[in-house]
Amino acid sequence: MTVVTRFAPSPTGALHIGSARTALFNWLYARGRGGKFLLRIEDTDKARSTKENTQIILDGMTWLGLDWDGHAVSQTGNAARHVAVANEMLANGHAYKCFSTQAEIEAFREKARADKTSILFRSPWRDAAEADHPDAPFVVRLKAPREGQTTLHDEVQGDVTWSNDQLDDMILLRSDGTPVYMLAVVVDDHDMGITHVIRGDDHLANAFRQNLVYEAMGWKKPVLAHIPLIFGPDGKKLSKRHGATGAAEYQGMGYPAAGMRNYLTRLGWSHGDVEFFSDAQAQEWFDLDGIGKSPARFDTKKLENICGQHVAVADDAALLQEMQNFRAVTGQKALTETQIAGMLKGMYCLKERAKTFPELTEKAEFILSDRPISPDEKASKNLDDVSRGILNDLTPQLQSVSWSRDALEGVVASVADAHGTKLGKLAGPLRAALAGRAVTPSVFDMMLVLGQDETIARLQDASA
Ligand code: GLU
Repeated sequence: MTVVTRFAPSPTGALHIGSARTALFNWLYARGRGGKFLLRIEDTDKARSTKENTQIILDGMTWLGLDWDGHAVSQTGNAARHVAVANEMLANGHAYKCFSTQAEIEAFREKARADKTSILFRSPWRDAAEADHPDAPFVVRLKAPREGQTTLHDEVQGDVTWSNDQLDDMILLRSDGTPVYMLAVVVDDHDMGITHVIRGDDHLANAFRQNLVYEAMGWKKPVLAHIPLIFGPDGKKLSKRHGATGAAEYQGMGYPAAGMRNYLTRLGWSHGDVEFFSDAQAQEWFDLDGIGKSPARFDTKKLENICGQHVAVADDAALLQEMQNFRAVTGQKALTETQIAGMLKGMYCLKERAKTFPELTEKAEFILSDRPISPDEKASKNLDDVSRGILNDLTPQLQSVSWSRDALEGVVASVADAHGTKLGKLAGPLRAALAGRAVTPSVFDMMLVLGQDETIARLQDASA
């Protein structure tokens, strides 16, 4: 059997980090099994399902590297098929026309409340003969069982049992003939050949209603896996109160996608106690068994830690490409050819301990800035007259040294010595001169990356 999973977002204006994780789990499950990962845009809410909102989802998935197979399916595009299925259920006797008016339903509910009986609407038309049907507007309702229980097996939640008297005869077609969302989901999942439905556990109750459509149509049911929602650090459902919740916000903060994927994979799923892994490992290991039953808590520190590890091992050119993308989405100028060449040369020392693209940029300031370097306020403090004098002495010595780490260390140490100071004391002035910053990669790394001429020119600028 080929595994076919799907991500079925409703475009609401942001790709919530919880939805992104749902997409990721489906992607991992399919990709790790040579299966297919499909995307369906559940755009039945016309007001919210704008082109822009749909694009936000596609952009978020593209950023996260969650590629889908085929084209994104539009749910509204399948409406005629949803109607056809409802009509088939009508013909089979699994659904019926209900002529009850809104006022009648309200009256039923009011009476039920007064009598303290179930307010689930029990339509008087359920078993009415066709001959008794009036010529009036109607909705099509599913004939749900009223007795007994239904048990669904869920790969995460185990066996879940519902009493059938908790289910009403849900509407399949509204009085204007349009299909409801709950029907659309099942028809689409069936038609798209979905074998595994992996989604948030806020849809678990829907599964019982959707199950009735599968039964009525005699369709093969998909494997279900309802995953717990993501909580904030305080143990409450992750929301704006906790800070950023949208994938685009994390992209805007400059988290690398590989780190984000790794962190989100670990959020609610585990493989022993492995925290850091590659996509290939995640695809190989990911299984429904490893999904936890209780909600995971979003932890920014952990996210940063994982991202830092991914930056450290990333391929330099790929990291730079991602940095260019980051600059583009955050409205920063693209790096020039010269800057790219400098970054590639210096990437080995920039990658250390950088968790995000802004941090990488900060470290790369000495490469990205041109002469004359203007030291920021903190760095300026390191460029007093004494330090300038020392830099002045150092410069000629750098002219004749072979440009290697050992030789550079030797020269700087001997100049420091001659001035009765320590090498460490020279680091501040050198940082200020070379990068204009107080926090930079090591001064020797900067010298090696900048090269002899540029280093000397910057020191001359600073000591002039
Ligand atoms: N459209 C639903 C949502 O965005 C998901 C439906 C499903 O996965 O079955 O929450």
